Amino acid sequence: MIVARLALGAAAAWAAYAWGAHLFAPGWVSRGPATQRRIALTFDDGPDPVWTERILDVLEREHARASFFLVGERAARAPDTVRRIAAAGHEIGSHGWSHRSLWLCGPRRTDDEIGRAQRYLSDAVGAPIRHFRPPWGMVNAAMFGALRRHDQRCVLWSIQPEGLRATPPARQVEHVLSHAHSGAIVDLHDAEGVPDAPDRLLVALPPMIAGLRRMGYELVTVGELLETEEARRVG
Ligand SMILES: [Zn+2]
Repeated sequence: MIVARLALGAAAAWAAYAWGAHLFAPGWVSRGPATQRRIALTFDDGPDPVWTERILDVLEREHARASFFLVGERAARAPDTVRRIAAAGHEIGSHGWSHRSLWLCGPRRTDDEIGRAQRYLSDAVGAPIRHFRPPWGMVNAAMFGALRRHDQRCVLWSIQPEGLRATPPARQVEHVLSHAHSGAIVDLHDAEGVPDAPDRLLVALPPMIAGLRRMGYELVTVGELLETEEARRVG
């Protein structure tokens, strides 16, 4: 009985730490202001020496800029790709050091995941990293304090064309175009989380970009998308 009660107590504490943070904690954004016809494409899980390079080729051909939420330890293994992302004018954000879900991290590990990635990526880029995307969108109550200490903001998304299962390129394009809105943040992946996902994205990306532009959207980085709002918060 006591064991069952303790287990229940531990489960409730965990739920408050992980899920409660999701529901009640302030300080994260999933979209920019709706006042301007702007959309930010974002890529998680890289840099991948093969796939990220190919996505950068597409963005270069399309003259489009985007934001890359990099995994720290993967960035350390592909420094040339990190430099290329930054040199092309894309924004670099943090996706944690090891891509471990924050649901599995206590406060100390949470701070370590965020701080270590922030130090490495800021050094690599030569400017402080301002935006953090938690792996799988999983947050915990310790994350917000850690982000404040490291001067970062949690950025989720408002459109996600590919879930856990394979989605054909045409359906991804259709999903993004039919859900597009001013201030949207689109979540894409430039590494192989789902098998063959980057291959499908490479096919989907050009018509996705062309379609959004036809609808009058300007493609900007997350920093640019949130600029107006951040200026207002400071001012
Ligand atoms: Zn991820």
